Amino acid sequence: MTKTEVREYQWIKPDKEKCISCGQCVNFCPRDVLRLGEDGFPYMKYRDDCWYCDVCTYICPKDALHLEEIPYLIK
Ligand code: SF4
Ligand code: SF4
Repeated sequence: MTKTEVREYQWIKPDKEKCISCGQCVNFCPRDVLRLGEDGFPYMKYRDDCWYCDVCTYICPKDALHLEEIPYLIK
């Protein structure tokens, strides 16, 4: 199945003052959602595959990633 790239609203965003572009969040995401952009910061390339598991925010050595408001309810 081909993944769909979505570049609209993203609820995982790096703090660019803290991020060191190490790529750990990209490597540990169990859903292969994240990529490092051309600017060196992670973004949600395959946003709709995200499970909101928080692994990416937990693994970040700089506490630079945060799960922001999700645009719909999870039950
Ligand atoms: S919350 Fe989980 S699934 Fe979503 S981007 Fe982070 S590690 Fe990947
Ligand atoms: S794990 Fe943290 S410091 Fe490393 S690229 Fe991701 S957001 Fe940046």
